[in-house]
Amino acid sequence: MSSIHRGQNKGQGMNQHGSMIDPFGRAITYLRVSVTDRCDFRCVYCMAEDMSFLPKKDLLSLEELDRLCSAFIDKGVRRLRLTGGEPLVRKNIMHLVRQLSRHLTSGALDELTLTTNGSQLERFAAELAECGVQRINVSLDTLDPEKFRAITRWGIFDRVMRGIDAAREAGLQVKINTVALRGFNEDEIPEMLSWAHGRGMDMTVIETMPLGEVDVDRTDQYLPLSELRARLEQRFTLTDIPYKTGGPARYVEVAETGGRLGFITPLTHNFCESCNRVRVTCTGTLFMCLGQEDAADLRSALRASEGNALLSSVIDEAIGRKPKGHDFVIDRRTRRPAVSRHMSMTGG
Ligand code: SAM
Ligand code: SF4
Repeated sequence: MSSIHRGQNKGQGMNQHGSMIDPFGRAITYLRVSVTDRCDFRCVYCMAEDMSFLPKKDLLSLEELDRLCSAFIDKGVRRLRLTGGEPLVRKNIMHLVRQLSRHLTSGALDELTLTTNGSQLERFAAELAECGVQRINVSLDTLDPEKFRAITRWGIFDRVMRGIDAAREAGLQVKINTVALRGFNEDEIPEMLSWAHGRGMDMTVIETMPLGEVDVDRTDQYLPLSELRARLEQRFTLTDIPYKTGGPARYVEVAETGGRLGFITPLTHNFCESCNRVRVTCTGTLFMCLGQEDAADLRSALRASEGNALLSSVIDEAIGRKPKGHDFVIDRRTRRPAVSRHMSMTGG
């Protein structure tokens, strides 16, 4: 029997401890939920400027999102990340955060967190902290206000800076996520690292992923992180450390700053073997892998009955087909992405 077939026998749904185990023996403990496909920015690598968004009826309501997240928590998810689009532009999002925080209080959930562009943090940081959110990721690709405007198209740099300050003042641990873009921020990353570490914030650099059609040519933007690391090493002493946040980043400690720097390298490095996560879009579509098209419709299951039995069996069946790994490529001949949905659909 091939290893794949052996794996499939093992991996249909839940084991006797009530956790979700996939066909390759990986326990699924991390759920990322996109709460909206909308955003107040139009980052050039993420969205086209004239993106069309989903009609409201297609979106899960806040109550459905709560039911869905709670079902996953019942099935063994210990960490939950809200993302988008921009999660903090979803109407009444704090109602959902407050509802979900009951799972922190009960001990069923270890962590409730979010990834945000920072534009609404000034308004929400204190309330997030009050709800038990301890760490957040803020995406930031440059410290230059004009370049910030160029890369986000619609973003206001000072507002994001005030948001980051508000988050730190509220006691939230902030990690800065930076997409490494050739010809855009490659020379600025050392300065950003000093800036982030100087404020007690970890930083992660991310390679561009070929997700969804955008207006720019991705083969021009692609900067391998091996190259970035070699450059950083001319200025900083980087030591590999085993630090893990549950995500795919590999961390180094920077001797000169005392801070941590993570590398997420979906194109040059395969991190699939330790993948513990699945993703749900704002329409309730479950993706078992960021780099594959296979998906399961959880919205129909949610709407078909008030109880969670059907939902639970659809989740189990989907986890039973979680693929071994992804297959990202930027097709250099057609220059088309390997996966046609945008990051703002699946939420990064
Ligand atoms: N709006 C929020 C934000 O920007 O943090 C959350 C959603 S956004 C889709 C999540 C992360 O995905 C951001 O850090 C963003 O930079 C990253 N991202 C978007 N498109 C990407 C791409 N094609 N390749 C790599 N990272 C991407
Ligand atoms: Fe919006 Fe985040 Fe995508 Fe930028 S990366 S357009 S902030 S969803």
